[in-house]
Amino acid sequence: MSTGKYGFGTKAIHAGQSPDPTTGAIMTPIYQTSTYVQEAPAVHKGYAYARGKNPTRVALESCLAALENAAYCLCFSSGMGAADTIIKMLQPGDEVIATDDLYGGTYRMFTKVFAKYGIVFHFVDMHDAELVKSKINAKTKMIWIETPTNPMMKIIDVALYTALAKEKGLISVVDNTFASPYLQNPLDQGADIVMHSATKYLGGHSDVVMGTLMTNNKAYYDELAFITNSCGPVPGPQDSFLVLRGVKTLHLRMRAHCENGRAVALFLRNHPKVGKVYWPGFEDHPNHEVAKRQMRDFGGMISFTLKSDSFEEASQLAQRLKVFSLAESLGGVESLVGHPASMTHASIPKEERMKTGLVDSLLRLSVGVEDGEDLIGDLKQALDSI
Ligand SMILES: *Cc1c(COP(=O)(O)O)cnc(C)c1O
Repeated sequence: MSTGKYGFGTKAIHAGQSPDPTTGAIMTPIYQTSTYVQEAPAVHKGYAYARGKNPTRVALESCLAALENAAYCLCFSSGMGAADTIIKMLQPGDEVIATDDLYGGTYRMFTKVFAKYGIVFHFVDMHDAELVKSKINAKTKMIWIETPTNPMMKIIDVALYTALAKEKGLISVVDNTFASPYLQNPLDQGADIVMHSATKYLGGHSDVVMGTLMTNNKAYYDELAFITNSCGPVPGPQDSFLVLRGVKTLHLRMRAHCENGRAVALFLRNHPKVGKVYWPGFEDHPNHEVAKRQMRDFGGMISFTLKSDSFEEASQLAQRLKVFSLAESLGGVESLVGHPASMTHASIPKEERMKTGLVDSLLRLSVGVEDGEDLIGDLKQALDSI
């Protein structure tokens, strides 16, 4: 179905999908096949081998493209698979400027894998545009933005840096995982490529690992599709089906994540044992005005500290929560809590993490879509018990 003129929810449910021509099945079948029979050598219906193309995946890619207002989309076996493919557009000697508070897996891939291939990465505080400009030289080829960041919930001004990228002839990439296309569309703000870990909000049910990227630039798409087919990080048809099914409720889930996120952020801010609360919806968040301009709402990701800043108490709190589960990942229907200092960011030396505000008691919440009162009740009983 062509859904260009329709709203977000209608696109999430229908874009890229039409009833199965053989049976009328309303859901796109899981085309569990590796190859396709050809009528004569090289005469086929557009499908030759499933590393290149699979109909379930094509339906998903068309749907996701519609949600990011993109002409082109590719799906990958994980978010890291998408990021890996984007960096393979570069050559030894090329330089990348990236957000400093970057997703740990992306930071690891840049510094431990691609640095070996001679690609140079600069991790820069993107609150400071002059500092970003000072890192650009003749070898700079790409600017990599993540916003909101993890776990400090910093907001980076997408329009500012995509304009700078255009002026300097750099490829701009935005990792839009935390916001999802429901809250933010970086291509509309000038980005060349947007990527997601579809494992998070797009899939939304904590049952699949997948990545995706979208672009409106045909030359970039052709290059990225060539790298994907050559290197092979594609998702299977079952996983494509799960994400196709997941995105049908993206708009409903995101509204609930935002509503619960707002209620939880306000509750935490008023609790006597809580120190700082990091959520872009607060008027005194350092980039609240930018968040209001580039996002439709503020999402369900929140980090907070304890006044005591006790590692022990934060760890106890995480264990005493009953509705929130202690786990990595985010963006599913279930509420999750993480303790970055001992989990996702444990490998960063303490002095380094303290500099960015990632203190011992920092907890990160992925607020799910359960009943808001139950989430607040759960946080209250756990905070009162420590
Ligand atoms: C999870 C995540 C990734 C990596 O995605 P995977 O699907 O786990 O490979 C990349 N960026 C962000 C912001 C993430 O949260």
